[in-house]
Amino acid sequence: MIIGIDLGTTNSTVSVWQDGRAVLIPNALGDLLTPSAVSIDDAGALLVGFAARERQSTHPDRTATAFKRYMGTRHVTKLGGVAFTAEDLSAIVLGRLKADAEAYLGTTVSEAVITVPAYFNDRQRKATRRAGELAGLQVRRLLNEPTAAALAFGIQDCADREPFLVFDLGGGTFDVSIVEMFDGVVEVRASAGDNRLGGEDFNDAIMALARTRLDLAAMEALAAPALVHEIMRAAAERTRRALSDAAQAPFQVTIAGVQFETIVSAAEFEAQAAGLIERLRDPVLRSLRESDTRVDLLSEIVLVGGATRMPVVRKAVTRMFSRFPNASVHPDHAVGLGAAVQAALLAKDAALDEIRLSDVCPFSLGVDTTERDARGALHGGLFSPVIERNTPIPASRISYFRTLADNQREVQFGIYQGEAREVRNNIKLGEITVPVPPRPAGMVGVECRFSYDSSGLLEVDVHVPETGMTRNLVILDEVDAMTERDVAQRRELLAALKYHPREEAANAALLARAARCYESFIGAERERIGHGTLEFQAALERQDPRGIRIAHGQLSGLLDTLEGERFL
Ligand code: AMP
Repeated sequence: MIIGIDLGTTNSTVSVWQDGRAVLIPNALGDLLTPSAVSIDDAGALLVGFAARERQSTHPDRTATAFKRYMGTRHVTKLGGVAFTAEDLSAIVLGRLKADAEAYLGTTVSEAVITVPAYFNDRQRKATRRAGELAGLQVRRLLNEPTAAALAFGIQDCADREPFLVFDLGGGTFDVSIVEMFDGVVEVRASAGDNRLGGEDFNDAIMALARTRLDLAAMEALAAPALVHEIMRAAAERTRRALSDAAQAPFQVTIAGVQFETIVSAAEFEAQAAGLIERLRDPVLRSLRESDTRVDLLSEIVLVGGATRMPVVRKAVTRMFSRFPNASVHPDHAVGLGAAVQAALLAKDAALDEIRLSDVCPFSLGVDTTERDARGALHGGLFSPVIERNTPIPASRISYFRTLADNQREVQFGIYQGEAREVRNNIKLGEITVPVPPRPAGMVGVECRFSYDSSGLLEVDVHVPETGMTRNLVILDEVDAMTERDVAQRRELLAALKYHPREEAANAALLARAARCYESFIGAERERIGHGTLEFQAALERQDPRGIRIAHGQLSGLLDTLEGERFL
């Protein structure tokens, strides 16, 4: 059995192909989305998912969220004195998803398809793969998120060369990809994005609006500015979600028992968010241009990511393409469901034709060069891409260079990955030097060939046709080269950790939520939360199943009343 996993920045899902279709698997709380959050409690036991995310505000130094953005780096997060890399934290989340799948399927699971952003570089991909291995999963394939989304929307059932535009607006990032199938091969033809644009920015727009109408000074007299900001942000999120279903919605905060409220209309929100909406356009145009796709030839425009639920976004997309986008699959579920489709393809389920997926190079690979400006002055350290980003891989490209100085004896290439014009802003991967015969400047040519494949192996060949001299360099990922021993060590570390029992996830989640609410309310409400928590804890200590059920119901009912239904 191969499971599909969407390992998201905010939330993750686990899915499986069952009875001829992809289904999401609920976690121990019955939720389809599991927050990508890890927290360590005072007894040193790990909490994963909802309970962990609830502890973000009450135990920030023991809780990690949004660690996907550090994937593939050595960035370390310390939780209760223990150091974790993003890979470790992801492994912990993956381990929990695996357990959820096993509980649901009633069998052990050892293989998975895990989705990654199309722009993830090699290092990030390897880290993801290794996180899966650390969680006890053989990662059968890493699947690009836009490809997964396209599979969920049925690209595999379309005719050849019917491009899908995947419009993915999440909490913090925006990605547009052109995905196409040809001859049984699904391909991400291009992807462009803005990694500083997402639902959060729309919250800021609502907060800006609210600030002009509410007495901020009065709020800050009641609580610390940072807390006021946090409370306002949560309120903005509620308002924004409510505006997805209504023409107006209240913006409401309670600070130290005092209520502040204003009403925000959809039209006001739209006007305030105009600048953000405008920023959606550029990545769309770039992806179309880079994949050489005409808008009228797009087969589908599919919406993915929670923030595409905003009517302002849908309206903007409709306007941009002069037609309605396809939102028939739940935007938070599409990538996960696509992973299960791919899992089924891998398992050769007869329900679908087998499709091989190919990838694009998510970054440009090139060398440093020196160029002469119009006045003849030399400028070194400039990036000259050999394989441009979004080139389908495996790829092999040659660039031609000439000597720069009279009687130059060798040509040296620094090899870089990135998009910046100056190589110092890109990642240096290696260096290669080839001897050349002494000639006047520009009289010796050098060929530089880059070959890059989907395993992330980059091979560089430099060749001097005049002498027949060739030099070769194979660049393996640095992380791989150094982590054989590390992996064993990490595995030990993770194995030694204690986990909160999965069966108690619902109780742990409720306690974490109650603790957070206790901190954010005051007065009579705070007292009621404290009382409800005590009752619940007492029932847990008595290990009385009926009492636990009743106290659980009462406490969660109280919290729902106080802060509205919880949202994922
Ligand atoms: P993702 O990163 O794809 O999980 O998307 C998370 C984003 O979706 C967050 O910014 C949420 O605020 C947003 N979101 C979720 N539900 C809604 C909704 N009903 N209306 C508007 N935005 C939503």
